[in-house]
Amino acid sequence: MPFTLLIHGGAGNITPAIMDKELEDDYSQALKEALDKGYAILQKGGTALDAVVAAISTMEDDPLFNAGKGSVFTKKGLNEMDAALMDGSNLAAGSVAGVRNIKNPIVLAREVMLHSGHVMLSGSGAGEFALSQGIEMASDEYFFNQSRYDQWLEIRHTNFTQLDHKADNLKGHHPLPNPGEKFGTVGAVACDEYGNIAAGTSTGGMTNKRFGRIGDSPVIGAGTYANNASCAISCTGHGEPFLRACVSHDISCLMEYRGLSLKEACDKVIKDKLVKIGGEGGLIAVDAKGNYDFCFNSAGMYRGMRNSEGKELVAFYG
Ligand code: ASP
Repeated sequence: MPFTLLIHGGAGNITPAIMDKELEDDYSQALKEALDKGYAILQKGGTALDAVVAAISTMEDDPLFNAGKGSVFTKKGLNEMDAALMDGSNLAAGSVAGVRNIKNPIVLAREVMLHSGHVMLSGSGAGEFALSQGIEMASDEYFFNQSRYDQWLEIRHTNFTQLDHKADNLKGHHPLPNPGEKFGTVGAVACDEYGNIAAGTSTGGMTNKRFGRIGDSPVIGAGTYANNASCAISCTGHGEPFLRACVSHDISCLMEYRGLSLKEACDKVIKDKLVKIGGEGGLIAVDAKGNYDFCFNSAGMYRGMRNSEGKELVAFYG
C-alpha cells in the first residue's frame, strides 16, 4: 500500500506581507524536519500513529510553532496546552486539555490513549497522570518565548483572545503581525503501508485565553478525528466555530454516510458550513487509500506532505 504523511503548522492570516525570506526559510526547514522524522517511520514499515506522534513532537520542540515549547500565554501569563491523538484502525483516542509543564503534550495524549482507561484528561489531573507514567516534564523557563510574551503583553489588559496568527480581531488594538512573529498550532495525519490512518493535533491555544478555555484541538470529532472507514483529520484555526461545527467528525460522516470524496467533504465543511458561522482556518486530511487534501478558508496555512509515490510539498500561502 502507498503511504502518506501530511502536517500543518497553523492556518490564519499568513501572507507574503507578514513574512520575509528568512522567516520563509525557517518555516520551510522546520516543516521539512517534521516531515523527515514522521516519514522515516512510515518508510521503515512503522505505523501511521507513530509517524503522527514523531512529526508533531518535532514541531512541539520548535519555538516557531504554537505548541509545546512555543506555546502562547494565557490571561494569567501561563502556558496551558491541548493535544489529541486518534488511531483510525480501532477508533482508540487520547487527549489532554489545559496541561502545564508537559514537554510533549502529544506524547501524553498517546499515554492517555494507551494506559489511562480514559479518553480525555485535563489540568492538574492530567499532570498527575503524566508524573505517574514518567512522561517528560519541562520548567516554565523552557516554555518562555519572548515574542509570544510580547504578543501577550500587548493584549493582556483587554479581554480579547487572539489566534497567534491572526491580529485583525483586535479591532484596532493591534497592528498586523510583524515579520519575525511566530505562529502556529501543529498537526499531522498519516496513512501507513497497512492501510491504517491516524491523526493528531497539539496547541497552546489562543493568546490571552481565560477561565480554562479549551479549543477544538483536543476534542475528538472537532479538531481531531481518525477512522479507517473515512478519513483522518487535524484542524487549525479559531477553535470555537470548529467546536460548534464538529468539523472533523462531520467530514467523516459526509464520507461514510453520504459517499462524498475526501475533497468534496472537506470543501463542504470548511468552505461552506464553517464560513456560514464565521469560522476561519483549515485542515489536513488523508484517507485509507492515501488520498489527501489541504483545505483552508484563511489566507494561508503552513503545511507539508510527502508520500511513497515521490510527491513532496511545503507551502504557506493560499
Ligand atoms: N484551533 C486552536 C484553538 O482554537 C488554535 C489554532 O489552531 O491555532 O485552540
